[in-house]
Amino acid sequence: MSDTITQECKCCGNEDDCIEGLCQSCSIYNYELQKKVDLLTLGLLQEKTKKKGKVTESIFTSDVLVVPLADIQHIEKNQYGLMIITKHTKWNFEHDTWENAIFLPDRIKAEFTKAWCRYRQELEIDTLKDLTEI
Ligand SMILES: [Zn+2]
Repeated sequence: MSDTITQECKCCGNEDDCIEGLCQSCSIYNYELQKKVDLLTLGLLQEKTKKKGKVTESIFTSDVLVVPLADIQHIEKNQYGLMIITKHTKWNFEHDTWENAIFLPDRIKAEFTKAWCRYRQELEIDTLKDLTEI
C-alpha cells in the first residue's frame, strides 16, 4: 500500500499515471476524438461557406417565359391573375397599373411558384430559422 494518492482517470476510472485527470490511453483517445470533431466542424463550416449565396437555378424557363429570378421584386395577384414585378417594372400613374410587368399564365403558376420559392430558400438559407430545432 502506498501513501501517495493515486488519481483516477476521469474518463475510464482506472488508477493510472494521469495527466490532467486522464490516463495515457484515454488522453490519446480523447485527443483523436477531438481531432475528428474539429475536422467535422471544419467540414461543415466549409460546406456552409460554399453554399452561401449559391442557387441551383437562377433562371426560370418554360415554353412561354424565361425569367431571371434575381430580377424579381415580388409577385402580385390582381384581377388579371399573377403578375411578376421585376426591378424593370415601373408603376404607370396615368393608367394606374404596372408597366412592363410579366404576366404569369395560370398553367405555369404552380411550376413558377415552386421555382421562385426554391430560389429564395437557397438564397436565404443562412438566415432562415431551423424550425426542427424548436
Ligand atoms: Zn482512462
